[in-house]
Amino acid sequence: MKPLAIFGGTFDPVHLGHLSVAWEASELLDADVHLMPANVPPHKPPPTASAAQRVAMLRAALQGQSRLTLDTRELEREGPSYTIDTLIELREEQGARPLVLLIGADAFANLATWHRWRELFDVAHIGVLSRPGVDATWPDALEREVAGCRTADVSALRGLPAGKLIELAVTPLEISATRIRELLVDGREPRYLLPAGLFDDAGLLSPYRVSR
Ligand code: ATP
Repeated sequence: MKPLAIFGGTFDPVHLGHLSVAWEASELLDADVHLMPANVPPHKPPPTASAAQRVAMLRAALQGQSRLTLDTRELEREGPSYTIDTLIELREEQGARPLVLLIGADAFANLATWHRWRELFDVAHIGVLSRPGVDATWPDALEREVAGCRTADVSALRGLPAGKLIELAVTPLEISATRIRELLVDGREPRYLLPAGLFDDAGLLSPYRVSR
């Protein structure tokens, strides 16, 4: 069965790093990918752009293709967006379909701080996306905890609904939303770090241009 992969994040704003790694993961896993903006990210300071503004940017970014789909379910819930709650909801909807939670290597290194993190493997596989500047080795305690789940074989994920961990080596793109926000505050136009559609509507990037 074709897996469903979930790629969560703040997307403040969505950039070509997000889109490229999500696209390549979709190809490597032969999966549909849902990009899922978080409402109140439990691990980070509040986003600069509102949820509605981040959704508008994602919509503009995703035009013209069908592998990557916007999924706004976390924005419809009150309070912190816990991934475990989202995955349990998806599992109920999707039956035995393989679910794959995609996480960048920087975020994965902190997995043990996530709410009910061990239970994530009961409801989904995890795909770790390589990211430039992030050490490929994981903290010892995390490495020990996940050793039994690791696989290098993509087909292992297709036959099971959940429980495996795979590293996905994607094309390194050293792009971060933090850097893009800094450039925009400085009045720069990071045209080739962001999807072109974000420049078509003058309002889309305005939340970042206001000097603070
Ligand atoms: P910020 O700079 O605001 O922290 P970010 O660029 O890391 O933002 P997020 O929305 O926090 O973007 O990231 C969502 C997910 O995308 C995370 O799992 C993160 O690791 C991953 N990610 C973001 N940029 C890249 C990239 N260039 N390469 C690989 N993974 C990435």
